[in-house]
Amino acid sequence: MDSAMVVYPAHYINGQWRKAQAAETLPVHDSSTEEVMATVPAGTAAEAGDAVLAATQAFEAWSGLPVETRAGYLDKIAAGIKARTEDLALAIAREVGMPLKMARAVQVGGPAWHWANFAKVARNFEWEKKVGNSVVVREAVGVVGCITPWNFPLSQITLKIAPAMAAGCTVVLKPSEIAPVNAMILAEIIHDAGVPAGVFNLVNGTGPVVGEVLGTHPQVDMVSFTGSTGAGKRVSELASQSVKRVTLELGGKSASVILDDANFEAAVKGTVSACMLNSGQTCSAHTRMLVPASRYEEVRALAQAAVARFSIGPSLDEASKLGPLVSAAQRDRVLNFIRIGIAEGADVIAGGPDTPATGKGYFVQPTVLGIKASDTLAQEEIFGPVLVVIPYRDEEDAVTIANNTIYGLGGAVWSASDEHAVKVARRIRTGQIDINGGPFNGSAPFGGYKQSGNGRENGIYGFEEFLEFKAMQFKPSAG
Ligand code: NAD
Repeated sequence: MDSAMVVYPAHYINGQWRKAQAAETLPVHDSSTEEVMATVPAGTAAEAGDAVLAATQAFEAWSGLPVETRAGYLDKIAAGIKARTEDLALAIAREVGMPLKMARAVQVGGPAWHWANFAKVARNFEWEKKVGNSVVVREAVGVVGCITPWNFPLSQITLKIAPAMAAGCTVVLKPSEIAPVNAMILAEIIHDAGVPAGVFNLVNGTGPVVGEVLGTHPQVDMVSFTGSTGAGKRVSELASQSVKRVTLELGGKSASVILDDANFEAAVKGTVSACMLNSGQTCSAHTRMLVPASRYEEVRALAQAAVARFSIGPSLDEASKLGPLVSAAQRDRVLNFIRIGIAEGADVIAGGPDTPATGKGYFVQPTVLGIKASDTLAQEEIFGPVLVVIPYRDEEDAVTIANNTIYGLGGAVWSASDEHAVKVARRIRTGQIDINGGPFNGSAPFGGYKQSGNGRENGIYGFEEFLEFKAMQFKPSAG
């Protein structure tokens, strides 16, 4: 065990760090060294209940504040995140495994931008509107339970609690038990920003204990969940008993469709990068590359060249382009999928199941497998650095394959003409599609069709998820 291990003894409830009731702790592993880098307390159902009570009591005053006051707190939190970039980036690089330089930009820079952007969205929002003899006002949903995963932990937390707080909601956060350190730092930042007690609460713990309290508690009005499709279904079932609003951001198996007229070098390189980001642990990663069958050999060579750029190494090493996976369990799950692919006859274009010679760390080689559309790996979300290449006969076949999964989160289309790409993109049933390598846009709606979920995050789209409508009718004035 590392001597620099940090013990977090408390949860953040009602504006205070409250010492945990139970002695049980949850270890957090540095994914590059396998050492325990921190522990957080395993929260109890009673602690989750206390946090909900605090959020309930804080709701009326917080939702009644002028928008400008709430937006001001969000700006302070954005500034606090920027000021603690190094602490946060280091924590995430270690607990998740993303190389530090990238973690700074993506895992911390992104959230800081979103906090400030949600302040702007709230300030510019049309809070009420006259419709005939009614005035329609928008009001906060109430107490929101936020349950988040580990892969982009601070982003996923931010995309829930920042718009919720801007809207006037109060929140109880249960961060991922696998990567909770960044959330503890964020709680310190929120505390230092002077946010009133009870508006933001954080209870660490497991899904079945703390998460399920948020799904069932009668005082929770809404659950915002990001994670696996299985856990999302469970939370929905629980929440349906008290008719809570539920938004779900779930898994994906996104297709990058390379059309015959595309620039193949750019398309293959772009797809490999979009797959390998965060060692493939990205819900919207482009994990299926659909290519014309007649061009398979050319794609094979281009994919090998693109993968060769991803040098594996510890997340704190500046030279690393691909860090480890988050945990031993995740590594083993991914290796198992690679073996299944090979057993079903995959063409191993790059990588494979052999563990790279890094000594410690949950590493998996960047792997590219040529498979058939009917194979297991064409359907299962692997959540690791594994790209599958699936040949298609013609455009019709490509669209059919792209749509043939239970998911509908992201995707890409590559073509010599944007117009041609858009024609195909319109037929793909997913919430996002990148045309010829278009970059991520934090103001555009992010979310899934089908079993990838039912909510939207980012900008005004994510903000409106936390609002109700209230219509007040007036007697039309005489004359
Ligand atoms: P997970 O479902 O195991 O856990 C997510 C969160 O849910 C954790 O906080 C966990 O403790 C909690 N949880 C688990 N069981 C629960 C239960 N019964 N009741 C309440 N809460 C429960 O997912 P993960 O392994 O942390 O994350 C990886 C998954 O998240 C992948 O499937 C990925 O695609 C998905 N994801 C989706 C998006 C998106 O925006 N669509 C973003 C990131 C990750």
